[in-house]
Amino acid sequence: MKNKYKIIVIGSGPGGSISSFRLAQAGHEVLLLEEGGSYKVSDRYDTQEMTEKYKNSGTTMTLGRPLINYAEGNCVGGGSEINSGLYHRIPEEILSKWENKNNLSFDREELYKSFKDIEDNLNISYMPDSLIPRASSIISEGCEKLGWACSEIPRWYSYDDDGNGTKQSMTETYIPKFINFGGTLKTHTKVFKIEKNKKSNIIHFFDQDKKIQKYFCDYLFVACGAINTPFLLQKSGFKSRFIGKGLKLHPSFKFTALFDEKVNFNKMGVPVHQVKEFSPEISIGCSISSKQYLANALNDTNNIEFLKEWENLATYYCMISPEGSGNVRSLKYFKSPFVTFNFTKKDITNLERGINNLGKLLFKSGAKTLFPSIQEPISFKSHEDIKKYNFKKLNKLNLMTIHLFSSVQMGGARSSFALNPEGHLWEDDSIHISDGSILSDSPSVNPQGTIMALADMNARKFLSRI
Ligand SMILES: Cc1cc2nc3c(=O)[nH]c(=O)nc-3n(C[C@H](O)[C@H](O)[C@H](O)COP(=O)(O)OP(=O)(O)OC[C@H]3O[C@@H](n4cnc5c(N)ncnc54)[C@H](O)[C@@H]3O)c2cc1C
Repeated sequence: MKNKYKIIVIGSGPGGSISSFRLAQAGHEVLLLEEGGSYKVSDRYDTQEMTEKYKNSGTTMTLGRPLINYAEGNCVGGGSEINSGLYHRIPEEILSKWENKNNLSFDREELYKSFKDIEDNLNISYMPDSLIPRASSIISEGCEKLGWACSEIPRWYSYDDDGNGTKQSMTETYIPKFINFGGTLKTHTKVFKIEKNKKSNIIHFFDQDKKIQKYFCDYLFVACGAINTPFLLQKSGFKSRFIGKGLKLHPSFKFTALFDEKVNFNKMGVPVHQVKEFSPEISIGCSISSKQYLANALNDTNNIEFLKEWENLATYYCMISPEGSGNVRSLKYFKSPFVTFNFTKKDITNLERGINNLGKLLFKSGAKTLFPSIQEPISFKSHEDIKKYNFKKLNKLNLMTIHLFSSVQMGGARSSFALNPEGHLWEDDSIHISDGSILSDSPSVNPQGTIMALADMNARKFLSRI
């Protein structure tokens, strides 16, 4: 087995894939390692998909007040294989805040060059009008009645002449291009330790047969996602106390809404409208509403009998960009990361505001009953009902997040951040981090576009440095 490479990238999510592609394109010998298996991209949104492609089948949780269920991809392509494909560039006002907070200065020309390249390669585009599902247009009409800002969000999709869409995940885009440039991908390879000797980085991993093996490389890019990257670095003994600190995420609350009209159909996929009236602190939109996801949602409130009306049901979320933050820690004797997250008072107020506004919008859009993500047998028949409920009882709420970042932040001061502004460890310039961990804070919008643009920009800076 060949065991020495110039560059190794660990993790094939959006951050790892675009970095691997960029490095291989420049003619370097690159090995991309991925813990999960390789599957065809799909929009199944069912339990089999969760078992195959999600980390721990999606049952991971942050501890703190309140508990938050988080979901991550665990397959070739990472989160891009299971996500909704909603694309944003980071808003300029948020980018400026990051620069002040982390003592950074992003070269706009270079950053927008990366965004543009991503938009071309992922075919960022709007859904053909004829395909926009009723579950989506119904909230756009509700917003119109309320005078609220609402827009359709472009996605990484391409459509054939018959209107069949294919999500432009990493296995459809950057990974095949990486392989065409001579890159090597190894699946079912779980890295558990990074070690150093004078000449190389030594990557210890379990292979497909659970045997322990080693690879050696000159340069290492770690892209295991915002939870597993700091966990791996801590397990490997990296010293910076900022590794794993400052974790951010987008806590979300959901209502499943029952309408008089049909809003859902088999293989509907993800509706594409988002409410921008309360941005950047609160965002509102539609969630995956496949029959299996609806069943889970209705189960929360003991209302599963409504599943027979699934064509009239769709799930909607409100999510906040929180002030609070969390930590990722590696505890002795534990095989999994210990993840905590805590809200501030302002976060609780924003969450309550988001829930109220989501309820108001759904009733205005024609919903008859709302089933909340709350662990008690309850449903709401009017906005007045919602206003009376005490959402501050946080332990009752089933909150979740699919957006995680900022656990190994880049920053301009070695005394306050683990990574330098080019994305390598302050303590070791042969080790780069290239995933959601490096974000300075919540981007306030769906994060994949920003994660990829920063990872790409840093890979290009690395190429000019070496
Ligand atoms: C259900 C869902 C819907 C989403 N919808 C959207 C959306 O519409 N728009 C958007 O912008 N974002 C969305 N996201 C978020 C987006 O998918 C993530 O922000 C993005 O995937 C993060 O990329 P990443 O490179 O940081 O890490 P990840 O995508 O998490 O990739 C990390 C990879 O590293 C691998 N790995 C981890 N540890 C190891 C190890 N020790 N050894 C080897 N490999 C390892 C993992 O298996 C994984 O493949 C969604 C996420 C989910 C879960």
